[in-house]
Amino acid sequence: PYTLGPKISNWDAQRGAWLKKNPRFPNFLGPNKPRVLLVTGSAPKPCENPVGDHYLLKSIKNKIDYCRLHGIEIFYNMALLDAEMAGFWAKLPLIRKLLLSHPEVEFLWWMDSDAMFTDMVFEIPWERYRKSNLVMHGWNHEIYEKKNWVGLNTGSFLMRNCQWSLDMLDVWAPMGPKGKVREAAGEVLTKALKGRPVFEADDQSAMVYILATQEKKWANKVYLEGEYFLHGYWGILVDRYEEMIESYNPGYGDDRWPLVTHFVGCKPCAKFGDYSVERCLKQMDRAFHFGDNQILQMYGYTHTSLESRRVKRIRNETSKPIELLDMIGLLHPDFKAV
Ligand code: UDP
Ligand code: MN
Repeated sequence: PYTLGPKISNWDAQRGAWLKKNPRFPNFLGPNKPRVLLVTGSAPKPCENPVGDHYLLKSIKNKIDYCRLHGIEIFYNMALLDAEMAGFWAKLPLIRKLLLSHPEVEFLWWMDSDAMFTDMVFEIPWERYRKSNLVMHGWNHEIYEKKNWVGLNTGSFLMRNCQWSLDMLDVWAPMGPKGKVREAAGEVLTKALKGRPVFEADDQSAMVYILATQEKKWANKVYLEGEYFLHGYWGILVDRYEEMIESYNPGYGDDRWPLVTHFVGCKPCAKFGDYSVERCLKQMDRAFHFGDNQILQMYGYTHTSLESRRVKRIRNETSKPIELLDMIGLLHPDFKAV
């Protein structure tokens, strides 16, 4: 059967020894501030639909902005590390490689290319995950009781660098190899999970399946987060951005001001997905501008509307710029200071 690499069973000891030897690369930057690596990527070749590459650029700019503000490093992958694990499974070999190559990283944050940060202020409540190794947006009852295939989302999740995670990757991967294995596994998943359409095995369904069928083994280290949008389905968010601006401010991360807007079912890079390309692109622009306004405001600008690339000034230039700095605290936020 397929494996991600040589079996490792003493990673915690190996990593622990490395950390001890390399005190200048601590896995925590502060008491409740783990060192985090955000990992994202896209296919090695250009998009079929050329404008898709422009949206990939917007998406990585958006992630660079959030990560700079929050003291998180970024890895962008475009290489297919393992030909068998093409498509949505490509993240697994990559994640394992990065965990093993970067013992200094405490949490790896996987984020899809079609997900964008829409709350630049919200800091992950790291303290809450003190005892967890895998954090995904979702709901316990939807997984453990209903086996709902959309009861969690694997488009934006946190994974701790530890033996437990390597073990999880090992049980997660075998449904991935493309061709017969992936096709057959897809049938198993469709049969077992609530609401799943007929298609080849995907990483999200496989995760639901593992948790639902092996709850005892895994559940105590999995945190299904429903209090804010570690992943937020775009369909329920994008039409409400103006209302959010009217009533709230960044920093909540939840339905008042979502941390992440994820364009599930949109395929701007390909010729078609579940929704029309026009609708997807328009809403991606809105999500991008919604997030980007929080960046631009620091420098005195804003987009003329959520639909527009154009920007306008929101205050006059001054000869005493220091006095104007830090209107909402994003220029020098606490969570970035060390
Ligand atoms: N991905 C990648 N390389 C590929 C295909 C996908 O890095 O060759 C990443 C990309 O970030 C994408 C994620 O894997 O967003 C999930 O893949 P999926 O096919 O589900 O794409 P999505 O529907 O999220 O665009
Ligand atoms: Mn996605």
